[in-house]
Amino acid sequence: MKMFPAVRMRRLRKLKLIRETRLSTDDLILPLFIDENVEGENKKPIDSMPGQFRFSIEGAVKEVSEAHSLGIKSVLLFGIPARKDEKGSEAFNNEGVIQRAVRMVKKEVEDVVIITDLCLCEYISHGHCGLVENGEVLNDPTLEVLGKIAVSQAEAGSDIVAPSGMMDGMVKAIREKLDDEGFTDTAIMSYAVKYNSALYGPFREAADSGYKFGDRSSYQMAFSNAREALREVELDVKEGADIVMVKPAIFYLDIISKVRAKFDVPLAAYNVSGEYAMITAASEKGYLNREEVMMEGLTAIKRAGADLIITYFAKEWHPSR
Ligand SMILES: [Zn+2]
Repeated sequence: MKMFPAVRMRRLRKLKLIRETRLSTDDLILPLFIDENVEGENKKPIDSMPGQFRFSIEGAVKEVSEAHSLGIKSVLLFGIPARKDEKGSEAFNNEGVIQRAVRMVKKEVEDVVIITDLCLCEYISHGHCGLVENGEVLNDPTLEVLGKIAVSQAEAGSDIVAPSGMMDGMVKAIREKLDDEGFTDTAIMSYAVKYNSALYGPFREAADSGYKFGDRSSYQMAFSNAREALREVELDVKEGADIVMVKPAIFYLDIISKVRAKFDVPLAAYNVSGEYAMITAASEKGYLNREEVMMEGLTAIKRAGADLIITYFAKEWHPSR
């Protein structure tokens, strides 16, 4: 049968009638950096991410409240402590920067979902995501510390803890510890598939989490691998993850799509600092239209299958789009 001219795809396209993918502010999570060294209501610009800041605790409360008024329901908080040591003790200090910030945001902003990054890298002097001995990042001893951090974050009022260190068995260790301490309702969003990506460059400045030696290839995934991502997700789901994440997002749409096809679990994707920085820099130079590329990128992440998108653009997205 001759299809053309009976079928003309342009008929409906002209009417702008069908939109398969619709993004809403409900889908977006705003990441924020809270720096114990920043005081009062101040904020400190992050040079490699124009438009993004490190906030004081008070500043973060204001920012969360502003984002909330724009329809952003959830935030992902990263803490930068004034003091770092070999054990990352500030990560599980009940009076630490993130614990105090969570308590204050909970008190001041109603109905906000607080997700807390759960890792050692911002808190530990060498900047790796686990305890280190003889130059090696140790897996199992790190799990115990992650459990402790999870409990202190849950105690402060975090709704969802988000382990980002790619240690084997981290979700199980955290779930057990939370349950033991009575935090059965605290959810876990696992960075199940976190690639060892050069796109994290600006984040290291943002979170002050650059490492002093080696690299992260012994625990983060190689960007050449896709099947391994499915194994990572399978393990984390079995260990009790409530939400799994793929990071980065725009360079890894195939991975998001593969995970979506195979697993019926809520899926988040992290539109990372490098993706934000590229769009920002190119638009500052006049090479790209910031808004248009942002909309296209975020929609692509959702179209690939993500339910939730963590993005520095969150406040710029408007429901009327
Ligand atoms: Zn880390």
